[in-house]
Amino acid sequence: MATPVTLIPGDGIGPSIADATVRILAAAGADVEWDRQVAGMAGVARWNDPIPDATLDSIKRTRVALKGPLETPVGEGFRSINVALRKTFDLYANVRPAHTIVPGRFDNVDIVLVRENTEGLYIGVEHYVKIGDDPKAAAESVAIITRHGSERIVRYAFDYAIAHNRQKVTLVHKANILKFSQGLFLDVGRLIAREYEGRVHFEERIIDAMAMHLVMRPEQFDVVVTTNLFGDILSDEISGLVGGLGLAPGANFGTNTAIFEAVHGTAPDIAGRNIANPGALVLAACMMLDHIGDRGRAEHIRHAFEGTIRDGAVLTRDLGGTSTTDEFTDAVIARLG
Ligand code: NAD
Repeated sequence: MATPVTLIPGDGIGPSIADATVRILAAAGADVEWDRQVAGMAGVARWNDPIPDATLDSIKRTRVALKGPLETPVGEGFRSINVALRKTFDLYANVRPAHTIVPGRFDNVDIVLVRENTEGLYIGVEHYVKIGDDPKAAAESVAIITRHGSERIVRYAFDYAIAHNRQKVTLVHKANILKFSQGLFLDVGRLIAREYEGRVHFEERIIDAMAMHLVMRPEQFDVVVTTNLFGDILSDEISGLVGGLGLAPGANFGTNTAIFEAVHGTAPDIAGRNIANPGALVLAACMMLDHIGDRGRAEHIRHAFEGTIRDGAVLTRDLGGTSTTDEFTDAVIARLG
């Protein structure tokens, strides 16, 4: 029986890369029943809501979604889309794998970043402080780190390492300065690491040193686990080590729901021109197929996708080629055999 999956094409380049992804999955014979929904600006246009109830209801039903990039409308009265989705479905683990497809500056990068998705500085608790006549004399943002949140994300990283036959987890922190919040994350990480001793190697890095080590010798890293803000920044850095945002997929996991997406945004500078690289969303869809148990098909699509890129004859502009989104998609489909 076909697996129902909520499909949110998204804004900007979203509809074009979502079409490409749906075409590739169909050509590979994926048994998926898409429930098309809208969000972002498309949600505002249809329901005056960037995250419409119909979309949330669909995800509640399917528990699996593939989401194109969304533009959160600027202005008060609109809910932040990503915050709403993470809160509603408690999507605490953001998993962003990156590996070398075409050797370039680095030959053998293979990193899976596991980012805590619900805590830290991204909880959205901020305010201005009025002093004298200046209503914005200062601003305060609150970072919350909990024992529970730290335990479950570090455990997720170790369990991921074991399930995927990976050797090492690197915990990234800034506990030397943020002694309470980052200190708690590090303390909890060390405790959890002990449970996996002998099975998965554990190491710690301070965020600033980690940023440097990543550009000096990224091959040494395997699974990396960190807090929300650091994870957001490091994942873009890591995608830059393997060919950029056009190749960077991501998944958001909760206890019973998963949402798969590209790491990149709506790319307004190239939207509507049929030149976007659909790769990140295609690879996110492969993670989705892994999740629903169709691993063989996910591998088959990855193989065709990577073959197209290594061959180099049909590439989108971000990868140094001149081909359109449609031409690249056709080339991947041709390789599916
Ligand atoms: P962006 O990721 O959209 O674009 C950054 C650069 O990368 C641009 O030059 C763009 O052309 C290029 N790029 C991105 N994806 C590409 C692809 N698939 N193929 C080729 N080139 C690609 O980042 P931005 O410009 O900072 O953000 C634009 C909008 O996207 C904003 O409204 C932002 O809020 C939103 N956004 C949404 C998400 C999401 O929904 N998950 C994530 C990030 C940004």
